[in-house]
Amino acid sequence: MELKEALARLAELQKKRYAYRAASSSLYLDATTTAPKGTAEGRGVALGVLAGEEHKLFSAPEVGELLDFLWSRRDELEHCVRRQVEELRRSYAQLKRIPADEYMEYAILTNEADDVWHRAKEASDFELFRPVLEKLVAFNIKFAGYYDASKAPYDALLNEYERGVDMAYLDKFFATLRERIIPLLHAVMEKEPPDDSFLRRHYPAGAQRKFSDYLMEVLGLDRAHCTIGETEHPYTLDFNNKDVRITTHYYEDNVDFSMYSVIHEGGHAKYELGIADDLQYTCLAGGVSMGVHESQSRFYENLIGRSLPFIQAIFPKMKEFFPEQLADVTAEQFYRAVNKAQPSLIRTEADELTYCLHVMVRYEIEKQLIGGTLAVKDVPETWNRLYKEYLGVDVPDDKRGCLQDSHWSGGSFGYFPSYALGSAYGAQMLKNMERDIDVWGPVSRGDLSGVSAWLGEKIHKYGGLMEPADVVKNACGQFDPTVFADYLEKKYGALYGL
Ligand code: ZN
Repeated sequence: MELKEALARLAELQKKRYAYRAASSSLYLDATTTAPKGTAEGRGVALGVLAGEEHKLFSAPEVGELLDFLWSRRDELEHCVRRQVEELRRSYAQLKRIPADEYMEYAILTNEADDVWHRAKEASDFELFRPVLEKLVAFNIKFAGYYDASKAPYDALLNEYERGVDMAYLDKFFATLRERIIPLLHAVMEKEPPDDSFLRRHYPAGAQRKFSDYLMEVLGLDRAHCTIGETEHPYTLDFNNKDVRITTHYYEDNVDFSMYSVIHEGGHAKYELGIADDLQYTCLAGGVSMGVHESQSRFYENLIGRSLPFIQAIFPKMKEFFPEQLADVTAEQFYRAVNKAQPSLIRTEADELTYCLHVMVRYEIEKQLIGGTLAVKDVPETWNRLYKEYLGVDVPDDKRGCLQDSHWSGGSFGYFPSYALGSAYGAQMLKNMERDIDVWGPVSRGDLSGVSAWLGEKIHKYGGLMEPADVVKNACGQFDPTVFADYLEKKYGALYGL
């Protein structure tokens, strides 16, 4: 085989995989936006076939030969191609260990699980979801062995979302945060809470849609390449760096839910749209890890979006969209309201201070579920006990308890810690950004171009070209979670006069 021919085959193979994924993503987009309720079954069949075809395409012996050949000539490859071969060899070896029938069965199961979880959540009935969750856990334990049999199952799963991160690392990370956050939260709870009642006034969906358009403009999201839709749960879906979709959900009695969903998903979109052109349709297109992805969304959502300069910049415009609702509210009051810290039940609505405690509950449960020390039937009880222990709240029902998140029904075990890691990475990125550029002057004028450029240069453009740990190092330096704890202490200390 000639090197030139091998490179052409490599590019074609990756384009095919892109096409399968684009087809599956389109079905997902359809399922969550316009498809009628009773249509999951047929889509499940199609998704199962697509997953099976992708598996077949990528696990064929010729692919192994091609990758081995290219690896043997790695010194002649450009850095970018060499990285592709390295990554593909990794996933090829992993995929080869997963039997095709199990792979397909799992795709069908997660599609079914999504439907069952929705119904169970609506009815707040864990028993309805339990049998499916049992199957999902069993599959994940088995898959963990395929991913990396030398690791403990949960470590192998964690490694899929954030390479290099394991339970030993996270136990230490979470312990550091817990030690600093819990006393800070107690001090905050002693103080008078800010008034946030105006956030719950009536904010018509129509005006909120216009507000979303405005926020996308402020974020610098080009509508020719990024649209916004409406779904039950907000998400970001990327096809390539010229086609990203974000979604939100409008609650008319809650203005900040959609506002911060748009900014959060917008942060994910900025990442995908900023990845270099020459990585497109290869395995290096797309964010490098879930932790780094969440660092970007949460950077825009919290570090920028929940800062006083940003709120002061957009507040005059907000008053145009919501003149009556915000007539008697100042930017400073709004800032205090969207930063109100209090123990609560729902992770996605949690404030920046308590958010990581929500993540820790899920981490402890997953660790035990995948480790085999917790039975699925005992999840609700454990969930409720940990919420009491970490956040001091009583969980009234499973809908607001262990059925609230979609991750497990989607087969994601080991994803949650990425949110906390992302938050901590972000705080350190901000510290470095402040050293390099004037962050707050432009932000206070509603100009995020400097922030965008810094993140684009340090993180976005690389896609998967570097290892996640190297991307983190590039933007953060030596990762140190105490920087995040310092940030929280400073911010909430000032907000609550501690
Ligand atoms: Zn996110």
